[in-house]
Order: sequence, then structure tokens, then C-alpha cells
Amino acid sequence: MNAELRVDLARLRANITAVQDRLRPAELMMVVKDDAYGHGLEPVVDSALAVGVTWFGAFDVPTAVRTAAVTGSRARVFAWLTVGEDEIAAALAAGIELGVGDADYLERIARVAPAPAAVHLKIDTGLHRNGVRPEAWPAFVQRAAALEAAGRVRVAGIWSHIAEASDAEDDVSRALFDTAVAAAHSAGLAPEVLHLAASAAGWARPEFRYDVVRVGAFCYGVRSAGGPDLDGIAPAAALVARVEAVGADSVRIGVGALDGVPSTLGGRIDVGTPAGARELRAVGPVECVVASWPGAAVGDEVTIFGPGTAGEGSATDLGEAIDTVGEEPLLRLSPLIPRAYENR
Ligand SMILES: *Cc1c(COP(=O)(O)O)cnc(C)c1O
Repeated sequence: MNAELRVDLARLRANITAVQDRLRPAELMMVVKDDAYGHGLEPVVDSALAVGVTWFGAFDVPTAVRTAAVTGSRARVFAWLTVGEDEIAAALAAGIELGVGDADYLERIARVAPAPAAVHLKIDTGLHRNGVRPEAWPAFVQRAAALEAAGRVRVAGIWSHIAEASDAEDDVSRALFDTAVAAAHSAGLAPEVLHLAASAAGWARPEFRYDVVRVGAFCYGVRSAGGPDLDGIAPAAALVARVEAVGADSVRIGVGALDGVPSTLGGRIDVGTPAGARELRAVGPVECVVASWPGAAVGDEVTIFGPGTAGEGSATDLGEAIDTVGEEPLLRLSPLIPRAYENR
């Protein structure tokens, strides 16, 4: 492999600021799951703190604990993967707030918690991806209120996750969410924060913002596949590989399918070269074949995806070329590809 993922932390900070400005007065919860969408967790969290991010969303507990190790008391960290007692204990010891989408999990947390555990109760508003079903919700919030009164948990939030595939479906989800919040209040709960939306609905639809919006993709400059460019947002990472061999009409570059470049991209996109855009002809296991240019030399840099300045596309352009989401090319990248940071 002869490649690196170059992360421009100044660009990342500018994206985060644009998202914060857009969401205000709602707060940003920056989502850092999957090693901060492939960008590398610690430098990303550090940069986000520098521009005042006060909430991080981590998905799994190990990522949350690593995040909290960087934030200290400067931010709140939320994890929503349902886990066993050992991981619950580790999360609570690190001050992590837990997303709870089923009744058994709430009991497990209450059992393990040495002091009231901060939990965010999740209503299933239609995605069926974890979350308490509406018919089970009234009993669930009653039980949560009893556990809160007993000092086992503290219900800090109520939340859900929506598809963001169509406005109409999202509207149905939002109505279910509002009903669930009202039921929680009736049960005697007083959650500080409500959160429903991610990047797309949070950006486009103010009524979806509530107190906090969980944003991943847009912070990294990844627009939605099929979605518009966004004011103040641009890709923060570029995947760059070096030329390793120059042939008659093509060059070979040191990155391939085993490094996470989707092999289906062959013949479907242009990449950035010192001479501008050139066709990516094929993706092999350890190298890619790119149409040559005059004067091509071993060591020249080729950008597979990046900010879009040198003839290359963004990660989302690549995702669109193979009918997947914009963050997919980043999430598939091998952790073995070195991450290099600019503008710390
Ligand atoms: C990944 C994720 C997000 C962030 O989604 P983006 O579209 O990347 O902003 C928000 N909430 C949950 C529950 C997620 O899993």
C-alpha cells in the first residue's frame, strides 16, 4: 500500500461551525462512530472541542470511553449500542450517557448503576432499528419513572432515529415522537434533552431539531447521496495514492480493493491527477489502474476522492457512482491506511 487519508482539520472545524450555526439554538451532538467516519477518533474529537462541541455520539461503548478520555468534563458523551453488564459498568464509570431502546436493557442498567445512571429513552418511530414500540411505551416510561424515583437512573433524554428518506415518512415519525414525549411527561419524567434528527433532516427542517441534533456526515463534509451541495460544507478528507508503475497508456497506483476501494468503481469515476481528471479504469486487490497523462512519473500523487479541486470527486460522488450512501467510501477504508492530519 502506498496511500494515505489526508484529513484537513481546519476544514473539519469549518464544517462543524457551519453545522452549529445552522442548528442554533439547537445544539450539535457530533457523531463519531466508526472511528469518526474513518477520519480517526482522537484528532476529530480534539478539533470539535476546539470549536465548542458539547455533545458527542459514539454508538459503541469503547468508542465512547475513548471519546470521553479526550473530552474530560468539557462535553457529554452518548452511546446507544445495547451492551452487557461489564460494558455498562465501564460506560458509567467514564460518565457516558446511555441510549436505551428496550425494557430489559433499562433493568440491566438500573441493576449495575452505582449511582443514578443518565439514560436517554428511545421510542421506535418507524425505523424498527432498536427502540421501544409505541404500544409498549407507556409501561416503559412508567417503569423508568419508578427507577428514577428509586435513584437507579436519571432520564436525561428522549430520542429516536428516523429514516430521512422522505419528508412524509419523517413527519409520521415526528408525530409519534411528540406523542411519546407527552406520555413521558405524564409519567412524571422531565427529560432535559429531546433529539430526533441526523444530518439531513436536522439541516433542512427546523421543526426536527428539538434540543440536540445528532450529526455525523455533514460535519465531515459528506453530503447525502442524491442531495444538494451545502453552504459552508466541504469534504475534510482526501484519499491519496502514489504512482508505483507507469505503463504505455496507464499508471498503477498503490491502493486497491483490499484497502477498501470498492472494486465496482472501476470504469465508473474519474480521479484527480497532476494533469487533472483521468479515468479510474480498474480496481485490483492491491492497486488501481488509472489512465495516464503526459509526464506521469512514479511517486506522483493521485486523489481517489477528496475536496473536488483537482478533477477528483467527493466521497459522495463515489457513493453515487455505485448506488450507495456518501460515507460508504470512507467507512470501508482499511484502518491500516495511515491518516495524516493537516492544520491542527
Ligand atoms: C449514524 C447516526 C447518526 C448520524 O447520521 P448522519 O446521517 O451521518 O448525520 C445519528 N443518529 C444515529 C442513531 C446514528 O446511528
